[in-house]
Formats: sequence, C-alpha cells, structure tokens
Amino acid sequence: MNEYDTELAAGLLVKEGYQLTTEDSKADAVIFNTCSVREHAEDRVFGQLGSFSHQKSVDGRKLILGVMGCMSENYKTGLFKRFPELDFIVGTRNVKDVPRVLSRVIDGKKRQVALDEEGLGIEYSEFTRRGSAYHAWLPIMTGCDKVCTFCIVPKTRGREISKPAAEVTREVKRLAGEGFKAVTLLGQNVNSYGKDFAATAVTFPKLLAELSKISGIEMISFTTSHPSDAVPELFEVIRDNPKITRRFHLPLQSGSDKILKRMKRLHTLSEYRAKVDLLRTMIPEIALTTDIIVGFPGETPEDFDATRHALEQIGFDSAFIYKYSARPGTPAEALVDDVPLEEKKRRNSELLDLQERITESRNLKLIGSVQKGIAGKENVRVSGEIVLRTWTDKKIVVPGAAADLGKIMSARITKLVNETFLGEVYCA
Ligand code: SF4
Repeated sequence: MNEYDTELAAGLLVKEGYQLTTEDSKADAVIFNTCSVREHAEDRVFGQLGSFSHQKSVDGRKLILGVMGCMSENYKTGLFKRFPELDFIVGTRNVKDVPRVLSRVIDGKKRQVALDEEGLGIEYSEFTRRGSAYHAWLPIMTGCDKVCTFCIVPKTRGREISKPAAEVTREVKRLAGEGFKAVTLLGQNVNSYGKDFAATAVTFPKLLAELSKISGIEMISFTTSHPSDAVPELFEVIRDNPKITRRFHLPLQSGSDKILKRMKRLHTLSEYRAKVDLLRTMIPEIALTTDIIVGFPGETPEDFDATRHALEQIGFDSAFIYKYSARPGTPAEALVDDVPLEEKKRRNSELLDLQERITESRNLKLIGSVQKGIAGKENVRVSGEIVLRTWTDKKIVVPGAAADLGKIMSARITKLVNETFLGEVYCA
C-alpha cells in the first residue's frame, strides 16, 4: 500500500512540474512516506529526519522536509515538536494533497498539515508513476475493523472503507487498456472487501470473479488477508479462475491459542489449520505464506514451542518472522513486555532457521516441475536472462531478453540456488 502511495504522490508531483531525484544531495525537498507497523521502520525515519534537520539548522541547507503516511497519523503535529525543521505532514487519506501542501510551503507557509479523519484516500490516477509497465498495484479498500492488539493499522488507516466495485472494475479495465497484464489488489485486510456494502452485497470473492473476466489482464493477486475472512467461497473463486495467482498469504502470528487470544486474532490454531487444510485440498498447488511474531507479552517457552510446532506441521512456503516490539498507541502497549530482548532474538533466529529449512525442502520438490509466470524484469547480474514471477510467487531465472518482458511464459525448473530457481523456457 505504501509503495502505491509513493507511486501516486510521485506521479502527482511530476504532473505539477516537479522533478524526482534519488540523490539526496540534489533535492530541494525530501518527503518520507512512512510505515508505523514496526519500531525499526519508524526509528530509521526518525534517524533520517534528524540528519536532514541538522543539515537545515546547523549547515544552513535550504531544504523542505515532509512526512506522509502512517507516522503522520500516528504522531500528528507531535512530529513538529520533535523536529522543528519539519515543514509538513500528510496523512494516509491525503496523498492527493501532497502537491498542494508542498506548494504552500514553497510560498512560505510553515508547518502545513493535511490529515483527514474520514475518506477512502486511495484514489486512482493516470499520473501514478508505476514501477513496472506490466504490473500495477491497485488499492481496493483501506483501513481495518479488526482490533489485533499489537497492530497500529486501525489507528493509522482508520475503519474499513471499500472502493465501489464498479470503480474497481473500471480501473482494472483501464489498466488493461494501458497494457498492464498483472494487477495486485491491495488492502490492509483485502478479503473483508465489501463488508461496508450491505446493500449491493459485492463480496471479495464476487469482485475477484468479476475482475477475472476482464480481457488483457492475465494475472490477479491480492494481499493481505485475515484468517477470519478467508472463506470457502474465496477458495472456490481462486480454484475456478486460472488468472488468480496461487499464493495465499495468511498471517498466523502465533501457534499458541493463549497468545492468539491476547492478540485478539479472533481464531484458534485449529480453526486456522482447518482453513489451510481446506484450501490445500481445494487448490493443491497453492503456496502458503505467513507472518509470525515472537516474544509477544506473556509468551512462555511452551507458547513459543506451540508456534515452532505449528510451523513444522503446516509447512509454509515462506514466513515473515519478527520480534515483538510495543507500538505506541496500540492496546498491547499496556501489556507488560516481559520477554527479554535476548530471548526474543533467540526465538526469532530459531524460527528463521527452521523456516529456512522448510522453505528449502519445499522448493527442492519443485525441481523438474513446469511453472507459469510473468516475465517481470531482466536479470541485473547476467545479461541475456530474465526473471519470471510465477503464479505461486517464486522467481525463476530463464534465458530471455528485454523484448520478452511482460509476456506470460512457462519454465521448467532445473536448479535451486539459495532461494532462486534456475530454469529453461518451456513450450508445451
Ligand atoms: S487484521 Fe491486520 S491490519 Fe487489521 S488489526 Fe489485525 S494485524 Fe492489523
């Protein structure tokens, strides 16, 4: 979602005549698009803001500094107190306001704020500077009505709001007309799309089925899903529509029912496993990925063992595994953060090692298989090679040229090097 917001802001700025640079030293304005989900991400922004502020206040550099995204929502005008050199903040629902706010600062206005409490804030724009000519991110809903105690998203992105289905369909048709082949539908909790449309009853599975009919679009992905909203109707639509990719990201977070309850995840491990079993029965080729937090308040060695056991039993294709850190403003901030940092690190690295072995063993089984994918980019290290992103979100390096980019191709996997597959183009 943040990547899309950055593409949108950059596109709108270019439309207004600004030029983009990736060289800090050349910039007249530096805008941070921020994420508050993890402490580490915020700390990096704080560090950078400190450094640029120093350049302004001590070195006398003329520079406009702005913050957009979740940190603007999380800290609001408190950011100006911490960084007096900051010129503006723009919230998650105000990306379209970035050019207006920037121009006010250029006109001499101080400490500009654009923070709407309500609204969708995920506008489509033909000016969006997309990172690929074949694949487009497309936000279809924003916010979250769940209350996971560790999560800052309900505070920074607000309540769930879905983009009307007719609008989503129009935008995907437009992307197809512009030559895009692949689209990834985005939402903090994308599979609860449409719950705010009681009258029209357009659910996420229905929307997916509708979008699958659009000619020109050949690959449809979505992220991220909550287990409670991963329903059999959704699995059926995926199974019945070959355009929909075969990677399902379903955050588990913990294998302990006690911790899941403390996290307010709204399901038990066995309920989660029942969904996964059904999904794998209905779509055997599905690649399942997940998120795990270790060291959540109250996580005992037994709770951690339950998570380790769940990883062994379920056998995810890959997992994002993080150490818990309390996020200011979340319900879990009030819990005693009682797992020592060293123990969190130990648990984190134990699970990372375990998952690495599981991922490798699952990947090795794919050698010799034929996988369909989109030719997404050239191999930056070796000329004459391109990288296919498969329907199960694996990467296969095959012989190819720039002229192949954007094509849907099949490849036979011949080798696994670390987490990258090597293969040969396969013609049936
Ligand atoms: S469902 Fe996801 S976005 Fe919503 S509160 Fe839980 S972790 Fe956060």
